[in-house]
Amino acid sequence: MKIAVFSTKQYDQKFLLAANGAVEHEFNFFEEKLNSNTVFLAQGHDAICCFVNDILTAHVLDQLKTFGIKFIALRCAGFNQVDIRHADSIGIKVTHVPAYSPYAVAEFALTLILALNRKIHRAYNRVRDGNFSIEGLQGFDLYGSTIGLVGTGKIGRVMAQILSGFGVRVLGYDVFPNKEFGALGKYVDLDTLFAESNIVSLHCPLTPDTYHIVDQHSIAKMKRGVMIINTSRGALVDAPAVIEGLKSGQIGYLGLDVYEQEADVFYENLSEEIIQDDVLQRLIAFPNVLVTSHQAYFTETALRNIAQTTLDNVAAFDSGEELKNAVTIEMLH
Ligand code: NAD
Repeated sequence: MKIAVFSTKQYDQKFLLAANGAVEHEFNFFEEKLNSNTVFLAQGHDAICCFVNDILTAHVLDQLKTFGIKFIALRCAGFNQVDIRHADSIGIKVTHVPAYSPYAVAEFALTLILALNRKIHRAYNRVRDGNFSIEGLQGFDLYGSTIGLVGTGKIGRVMAQILSGFGVRVLGYDVFPNKEFGALGKYVDLDTLFAESNIVSLHCPLTPDTYHIVDQHSIAKMKRGVMIINTSRGALVDAPAVIEGLKSGQIGYLGLDVYEQEADVFYENLSEEIIQDDVLQRLIAFPNVLVTSHQAYFTETALRNIAQTTLDNVAAFDSGEELKNAVTIEMLH
């Protein structure tokens, strides 16, 4: 198949080409993100392959349909960026990579927790500047604290497993509770999780129900000085509301690997430019905030697994087999 691959960096190309082996499929790699301005690049291909910040609205999908595209292989787990109902209605199949390494993301969420708590980002800069004072770098023992996980799927469960070694109390909230998490932590309702957790870590998908799940109302229900971690999707968090929470001291620490407006900024080197997003710039300026550029997934294991599963999905579509990683409308909660 001839596949237009959007939002590609050199590392995506390397792992996809390696998984492709004896050049079974013909790839055209585009650095551009897919949106209504770039969709024309898909012309002349059989399928497209996309990532987290490619925006597949009904309009873009209609365009793809007119180009004869029948298949979209997502290189990510989340599918909030695709109008799945519309894709289904016009007969375009969509697959995703449901699991490539929950460890990569959970380990990164834990990295943010530990770095924020012990102020590693500030210590690193101080020491490089010859400042060996530890004034202001005081943290707290994670041991004995309460950590609330919103979403106890694959990543949330790995997070709970890792946390079990820290001697913390793990609370969980999920619309579909599962037995595996039940063995690691305690399910509570969302308000109880917000009220009792020292750290709230988000591991649910972005859906209409979870949009801005962290907003001024939920922030007000949290413990004063709470740490909030988001490695899931940017729009789970209302950024202006967390800025107010940080300014008032209600939020004590914030770790964001994802950001609602990330599509314009993340994955690009903008170090020579004036960033126009004032909300992002304000967030970055807080000493108790760590923002990273949607890199939680970014391990060698994950990239290899993403490439392999994506190509398995392409092969299944090509040979008319059942698409075991299809994204269906039944999966939209
Ligand atoms: P998963 O499907 O295994 O688990 C998601 C869990 O969230 C499920 O148990 C589901 O029941 C639950 N959920 C759904 N709606 C909910 C709601 N309204 N409230 C509470 N829980 C709800 O997915 P996963 O593999 O654990 O991934 C979780 C999310 O992490 C993905 O949706 C994706 O957005 C994000 N992610 C981020 C990165 C990154 O690099 N930062 C990488 C991979 C995945």
